[in-house]
Order: sequence, then C-alpha cells, then structure tokens
Amino acid sequence: MDTDLHITPIAAFNDNYIWVIHNRRHAAVIDPGDAEAVMAFLRTHSLTLCAILITHHHHDHTGGNAALAQAFKVPIYGPAHEPIPQLTHPLQEGSAIRINEFDLTLAIMDVPGHTNGHIAYYAKTMLFCGDTLFGCGCGRLFEGTPAQMMDSLAKLGQLPPDTRVYCAHEYTLANIAFALTLEPNNAALQARARTDRALIADGKPTLPSTIATELATNPFLRCHLPVLHRAAARAAGQPVANDITVFSILRTLKNDFRPA
Ligand SMILES: [Zn+2]
Repeated sequence: MDTDLHITPIAAFNDNYIWVIHNRRHAAVIDPGDAEAVMAFLRTHSLTLCAILITHHHHDHTGGNAALAQAFKVPIYGPAHEPIPQLTHPLQEGSAIRINEFDLTLAIMDVPGHTNGHIAYYAKTMLFCGDTLFGCGCGRLFEGTPAQMMDSLAKLGQLPPDTRVYCAHEYTLANIAFALTLEPNNAALQARARTDRALIADGKPTLPSTIATELATNPFLRCHLPVLHRAAARAAGQPVANDITVFSILRTLKNDFRPA
C-alpha cells in the first residue's frame, strides 16, 4: 500500500461524508452524492479522480455519479444487486478491487440490512461501510430485516479492533445520546461522549472511529449483553427472548428517539 495515502472527508448535504482516498496525484471517492463538492475538492488539491466506490443505491450516495462519469473516465464500483447509475464494475462478497494508483486492494463484504444489496469495502485498517455501521449506531432498516442487519454488524465487528471505521454520516452525537439512555454507566461510552462532543464543538468529524470503540460503546453491536437485554425488556415491558428481539426493540426505539 502507498505509504503516503490520506483519507479525508468532504462534508455534503446536512450530514453526509464523502470519503476521499488520495495521495499527491490521485483520488478515489466513496459515495459521491454531490459531484460539485467532489470537483471542488479535486481542484483545490490538484488531484485526478481514478475511481468511484459506491456502497448502496440511495441518491445521497450516488447522485454525483453521472456528472463525475462525464468529467472523468473512471471505473464506478458498486453493489451488483442494486440499481447504481453508471455502474461499470458490479461487486459482491468474495470480489476485491485493485486501485493501482494507490497500490491498494479492497475486499468486498455483503452487509445487507439498510438496503438489500449494501456492500462494504475493507482493506487492512480501513473500512468504508456506508450506512450500515455508524459511530455508536447503525443504519435504518429500509429494506432488510433485523436479523440481516445484526449479521452484517456482527461481521464488521469481527474485523481487527484497530480497523478505522469510515461511515457515511455524522450521526455520532445523537447516537451516543441514545446509547447513554440504555447504558448510562458504561465508562467507555461516557468517555466517548466527552471526546466526540469536543470534536464537534471544534468543528471536526467524530470519524473515523475504530472497531474497538464500536464494540465497547455501540449498543447495536452489544445486543448479546445482559445490560442491553435489561434495557430492551424495560422498554418492551416484558422479558425479551433473544438477541434479535433486543436488536429489533433498540432499532425501533432509536427511530423515535429525539436527543434532549
Ligand atoms: Zn442510505
């Protein structure tokens, strides 16, 4: 791998991040919902686009494809089983992509739940997971089932603990506020709340996080723990049968949660 690789977020829309992998000359973008924002970044840093990586079909992740494909002749990678504009290389679990400009190979993981064909891109110490895993939270279940999302998150949770997690939205503080209602005494979560509030107050992203941090603080990766079984049972007003029920209850609670 190119030792001079940088990974920088472009803020887009209200709370999207378009992640850019770049060296001094080339750039690959992940989920370019906004072509203008990408073009401006490339101009400012004198970079040539060499690849577009898409995690799922939602417009805020793919809306820039047409304009970028017109401006640059580059491969557009994305999930095989979703309608992705200008897709040139359909991918699914077991595939890998090679970005020669960076001497970088990324493996593809199927992570259904937010959408049915959602994929993630993984290389040692970096994960681009779109709207599957968020900082201290997870994506809404627009197409998949709770069981599918739980499997997908468990798969991501098994990556090496130092893997940096590049999510596609800045939702971390709201997710932490929700997590604290479930686990007010989790010291790692309390520490994360302090760190991430300070980052946002400084105008900085809370991302990337790491798999280790998510395992210690993210309730959607912790549904097997007694403390979250108890929180889910309290919310449901009855005992919960298994981890999937816990996940399902927490996901529904989060849908209706408004931070104070
Ligand atoms: Zn989405």
